[in-house]
Amino acid sequence: MEELYTGVILDMVSDAVDKSYQYAVPPHLQEKIQLGCRVLVPFRSRKVYAFVISLEREKKVLQPREILDVPDPTPILTPEFIELSAWLAVYFYNRRIETIRLCLPPAGERVRALTEEYVLPQLSTDMLLEQSTCLKKRALRQSLLLEHLARAGGEGLPWSELRRKSGATKKSLRALEERGLVRLGDIQRERIPRSVPPQDGGEELLFTPEQSAVWEEINRGLGVKSRPFLLHGITGSGKTEIYYRAAAAVLERGRTALILVPEIALTPQMIAGFRGRFAGRFALLHSSLSMGERYDQWWRVKRREARVVLGARSAVFAPLENIGLIVLDEEHEHTYRQDDGPRYHARDVARRRAAYHGALLLLGSATPSLESYRQVAEGQVRLLELKKRVGGRPLPSVQVVNMRHEFHRGNRGIFSRALLRAMDETLSRDEQLILFLNRRGYAGFLLCRNCGYVMQCPSCSVSLTYHAEPEHLQCHFCGYRTIPSGSCPRCRSIYLRNFGLGTQRLEQAVRRIFPETVILRMDSDATVRKDAHRKMWETFKKKEASILIGTQMIAKGLDFPNVTLVGVVAADITLNLPDFRAGERTFQLLTQVAGRAGRGDKKGNVIIQTYNPEHYSIRTAASHNYHNFVREELKRREPLLYPPFGQLLLFTCSAPCAEKAKKGAVELRSRLEKEITLTGPEELLGPAPAPLQKIRDLYRFQILFKGKHLETHNQIIREIVWELRGKLKDTRITVDFNPMMML
Ligand code: ADP
Ligand code: ZN
Ligand code: ZN
Repeated sequence: MEELYTGVILDMVSDAVDKSYQYAVPPHLQEKIQLGCRVLVPFRSRKVYAFVISLEREKKVLQPREILDVPDPTPILTPEFIELSAWLAVYFYNRRIETIRLCLPPAGERVRALTEEYVLPQLSTDMLLEQSTCLKKRALRQSLLLEHLARAGGEGLPWSELRRKSGATKKSLRALEERGLVRLGDIQRERIPRSVPPQDGGEELLFTPEQSAVWEEINRGLGVKSRPFLLHGITGSGKTEIYYRAAAAVLERGRTALILVPEIALTPQMIAGFRGRFAGRFALLHSSLSMGERYDQWWRVKRREARVVLGARSAVFAPLENIGLIVLDEEHEHTYRQDDGPRYHARDVARRRAAYHGALLLLGSATPSLESYRQVAEGQVRLLELKKRVGGRPLPSVQVVNMRHEFHRGNRGIFSRALLRAMDETLSRDEQLILFLNRRGYAGFLLCRNCGYVMQCPSCSVSLTYHAEPEHLQCHFCGYRTIPSGSCPRCRSIYLRNFGLGTQRLEQAVRRIFPETVILRMDSDATVRKDAHRKMWETFKKKEASILIGTQMIAKGLDFPNVTLVGVVAADITLNLPDFRAGERTFQLLTQVAGRAGRGDKKGNVIIQTYNPEHYSIRTAASHNYHNFVREELKRREPLLYPPFGQLLLFTCSAPCAEKAKKGAVELRSRLEKEITLTGPEELLGPAPAPLQKIRDLYRFQILFKGKHLETHNQIIREIVWELRGKLKDTRITVDFNPMMML
């Protein structure tokens, strides 16, 4: 037999082993081994699992060790995922094993069999037990196997589980199979996810002329290899209906569809729509399902039972084959970017998968990201527009209230007179209203009026957020909680005061003004319980509550025809984040929340309260003028080389003491300077303390690298960082390519 070698990635998360290792394939495993297989290999003095990323004829090391075992019957990684994980490792500075793990089935313990074989009973439970008794003396393991199988109640068990329970070998299983008692298959009972949202029958709507025009383009794009499309459609213009139709069309062509949304919990309507239309061919991949449910859903996709997959960010790795359509709804949302563990942006992954499969990538948004907008201008992405709301409904009228004037006229309250009046009128007409405030909790922070001390988190450099009911202070970064003592820890004065405003305090204030009205509050404190969000959504939909108060959670996706007023209580909160995207975030959020008003037959009104009415984000959002906003924003970013004009690499060095973190950053900077030849439009900034100087007891320093083609330095940067990480033991170094948050 000819000699065969494999390149494998070890299933160990460590910079030191982050490369392909060569092993020899012994003759008896040559039949079994395939690209993408999981294998067991000797590594140093241990045995570890690894993934086969290449098969080779040529020996690359002097004495390659031998593969020990190929445990699964089929490869777990497709060639696509081998390639995708390689790209993700390079492009976003990840370890290869971490990007491989993104493509694997969700499993708590990784050692568990990665492809599921099922043992299915071929006789009734009683007969199996009878056979089990007969075998007890002669073949204990076979007997035990039958017994466990019988107890499972007719539905079969995974082979891995049976083997563990009975100690039986494949040979005993074969013996039972030959006698017709059991069968080895890959059918698997599906746990029905408990939190299934209601279904929506899904009658085909007659498209508006605008929708029809867009649909024709998309339908044509589905048939051929096409550039990605950007569907820029204002809120309520009927984008979702187009997604439904496009998914149905690719299924008819025998292909599959992948639908991505920013957050599952916030899209109950769309889930219901897809489930209603695609029923048994639909799978929801979703992190709040139980591990077992997730596992089942994943395998349904892998086994090609489910052909339409809907999910949030990580669903971009759904094991679909022959993909014909990938939809990224609300493509501008920053939740598509994963910032922890392996970093990636689902939009980039989606683009890559679409290219691989020759699928149409459809990006949808009412406020497209500047990145996508720019790609339209450069011709890489094709623009489709929906400029009107369905049914000729007008966009809501927006009024901006200058809170500075209110203050000068003696109004120290939360609400301007205009918003109070509008709320009053809306309620008296029996219509509903939404109040948006992008900060949870009761108040921003607790301040001592005697000495100016602000209660801070002991581990993070942020002020603690004040919560009423039950009264406590909480850090929203690390979760630290404490109960305020009633006096200032620094000067002992008792003159502590809440400053700023959160949703809890807002709710209290509204209750005081409208004691008779039913009020709901939707934020991440009020929706901790699994179904809380959906229940609130249903209550509001049924008009059992008149006022909905919430954070950005309520900004998207909700379609309540009876909502005629949206009040933005403090637009300044997002505006003042220390991040170059603050203006864009503000524009997007305001447009999204405003889009919740006037979706029915009655006209909608929006009132935005702000201390910065002149700000371009607020002015352009108020006039629904996306293009003016973009022009203004691009003008600001271009000279600074911020995306979409340049790329960013953000290096963060963190350590338990500030001195160490800084030293690490200084060393990193000098290495980068020494080994990279900076070209004209490239700039290295820092080290500087991060905007959040300390998180979870780690001090943080940052270096920012800006440039047009940073990928050209990829290899060298990777080497420097991996090496420094090994050398500076207690300093953590992260590399973030085009981060969405600069904090
Ligand atoms: P978007 O996703 O652009 O915000 P949706 O797709 O949610 O908009 O559509 C807004 C509302 O209009 C929904 O209630 C939807 O059912 C309805 N709708 C969409 N298209 C049509 C149509 N062609 N005819 C009638 N109603 C429609
Ligand atoms: Zn903290
Ligand atoms: Zn004090």
